[in-house]
Amino acid sequence: MGYSSLVDYVRLSPNHSGERRYPITRITPHYAGGNVSIETLGDIFAPPERQASSQYGVGSDGRVGLYVDEDNRAWTSGSYDNDNRAVTIECANLEDGSLTDAAWETLVELCADICERNGKTRLVYRGSADYDGLADGDMLLTKHKWFQATDCPGPWLDTQFDRLADEVNERLGIPVPDELHGWAKSLEECRDAADYAYCTCVVYSCGYSQDDRKNLTFDLLRRGEAETDCSYGVNAWLYWGGLLDELIGFWTAIEIDYLVSKGFTLLPATVAPRRNDVLWRSGHTALYIGDGMQAEALWSEDHSFDGAPGDQTDGETLVREYPTGGWTYILRPPAKEEIEETGDGMLACIVEIEDDHSGYKAGARVLWTAEAGFEYINHPDSIKLLDDMSTYYTGKPLFRVKSSTKGPWIERLAQVTINDKTKGVVR
Ligand SMILES: [Zn+2]
Repeated sequence: MGYSSLVDYVRLSPNHSGERRYPITRITPHYAGGNVSIETLGDIFAPPERQASSQYGVGSDGRVGLYVDEDNRAWTSGSYDNDNRAVTIECANLEDGSLTDAAWETLVELCADICERNGKTRLVYRGSADYDGLADGDMLLTKHKWFQATDCPGPWLDTQFDRLADEVNERLGIPVPDELHGWAKSLEECRDAADYAYCTCVVYSCGYSQDDRKNLTFDLLRRGEAETDCSYGVNAWLYWGGLLDELIGFWTAIEIDYLVSKGFTLLPATVAPRRNDVLWRSGHTALYIGDGMQAEALWSEDHSFDGAPGDQTDGETLVREYPTGGWTYILRPPAKEEIEETGDGMLACIVEIEDDHSGYKAGARVLWTAEAGFEYINHPDSIKLLDDMSTYYTGKPLFRVKSSTKGPWIERLAQVTINDKTKGVVR
């Protein structure tokens, strides 16, 4: 049995899968979509036919309900991957989606308690469910909407995850923010492509021009006279961040071939982006800079393709929220130490689920990569896209593995992925 001593009310729900399949490494705060009490949440999760539950509920009065023991997998996020790793918390919300001060205080306290009891020393929010670069002592914050078509955690809580991590970490007694949060505020402080992108677009307010796209240098940035366009900006940031060995000035039309030739991995834009991933669609490109944000050179001051020099507006190059949808591909840079090596391709397969098992429904398709673990694929077009890409680059569609109750190969793959600590893969 594992649960918080902060619990005020217990009503255990039958809606769970029994013992979770992975250690606790995530916390997923949800919003209840209404101002429900912890007793009402207990009622909601009680009937088996509801097929829904959460570990905890937090009421607007700041009290805590327990519905599923932390040792078990609750049915909260619609995701095998997430619910097997996460402690899930439903929070009562007011009409605008916000939490009362009492509920917020309790949420912070409860998250800190969950971290401490599960051997975690830091709560991390990085805008994706990606574990790369995290330490064993890190607990990751995830959002329901990353796994299912839902607006959960709602319009207000959705914007509070950075603050939640900071306040919880304060309780845990560690200094924040750390290097995963925020971006450099000057060229001298830049450590990666995302920092350079942020500085270009926000700190030095670079202008937009297709004709003068190469007017992007440290010198011009400092003088406030820099200009660039979407693809040259991405070129420069990758080059300055050490992810490309030259600055050739590619255009979007040749960008994919060029970056793949430099060891970048081409992925469908349905996967969760990571800091320093390149975003591409026909005619436009940008850089994902982490924390749910992208940086891009968009258009000139009069919304055309060419502006006059030195008349930069804040809207020419900018940082804004990463949209779900709108991009076709993600180009993921190779790990820095691999840049010098010749690319040996992505080790990947598609797992076809033949009957209900291991938390997946019959007919489900799951992409597995040695690097990132599992990505559930919810649209047949995504599979076709992956096969087309694989055929383009390797001459063959992706390898298929059929997994069933008799041969639950998806669990073997999960073991391979989780055991491979040498690569830092723990998801
Ligand atoms: Zn939710």
